[in-house]
Amino acid sequence: PARLATAPRLRPDDVFIAVKTTRKNHGPRLGLLLRTWISRARQLTFIFTDGDDPELQLQGGGHVINTNCSAVHTRQALCCKMSVEYDKFIESGRKWFCHVDDDNYVNPKGLLQLLSTFSPSQDIYLGRPSLDHPIEATERIQGGGTVTTVKFWFATGGAGFCLSRGLALKMSPWASLGGFMSTAERVRLPDDCTVGYIVEGLLGARLLHSSLFHSHLENLQKLPRDTLLQQVTLSYGGPENPHNVVNVAGGFNLQQDPTRFKSIHCLLYPDTDWCPVQKQS
Ligand code: UDP
Ligand code: MN
Repeated sequence: PARLATAPRLRPDDVFIAVKTTRKNHGPRLGLLLRTWISRARQLTFIFTDGDDPELQLQGGGHVINTNCSAVHTRQALCCKMSVEYDKFIESGRKWFCHVDDDNYVNPKGLLQLLSTFSPSQDIYLGRPSLDHPIEATERIQGGGTVTTVKFWFATGGAGFCLSRGLALKMSPWASLGGFMSTAERVRLPDDCTVGYIVEGLLGARLLHSSLFHSHLENLQKLPRDTLLQQVTLSYGGPENPHNVVNVAGGFNLQQDPTRFKSIHCLLYPDTDWCPVQKQS
């Protein structure tokens, strides 16, 4: 798709960011996001979870959606959430759908800038591929018992990805109102792969590979320091892999800021009240 020469400015409420979370992560993960990037992207952000939490409801200011999907890490439960995210986006009428996990930092300005170089009426599917080759899946066509193979690229959900409204609307026969779950069953793949299957395998559109989205499947330490503030999403390794964090210098050490999200946030938004006061140069 052609990049736009004159980028029309996107308004924050043109974009719908779905954050996937689960009840047990509200305390450990969501709090950090709410205090950092979500605080600068309130209008854009919707939190999709699986359990009632009055405190999160308050903090989320009406942007918390209980999907009533089950709180387990199974294909069905995760596809259930993606399906609700998709339906809520369609209902919102916004121009861009982006999905992220609750261990992603989103750079709101960077995201708006990136999306504004495309037209939402074109078929745009933007993200980082998980693999360095297309995935091959077995497709079971209902009833017929026919099995075929399909090859397609997909964007890794843990790095975040975006879809234009134009493309999202074309996906609706396979994605809307629970259809997403049947489609996922057809290929027996996780939610993010299923999005790739619908876009590339069924619609013949293409994933635009972007190196601005990052998951903890990458070695995050290797991201050059002078490019960190240009990235659109970041992540962190978590307790199993605490050293896999971005290499950012700043007012917080590793104990104070194990994910490095606070340090990134203070470089992007130094006027935040809890950020260290900047030295005058
Ligand atoms: N998640 C979920 N339900 C679960 C477990 C995880 O919705 O039962 C979400 C979680 O909140 C996160 C994403 O799925 O947004 C990925 O989870 P996690 O980072 O724990 O695992 P990963 O797949 O990245 O190793
Ligand atoms: Mn993760």
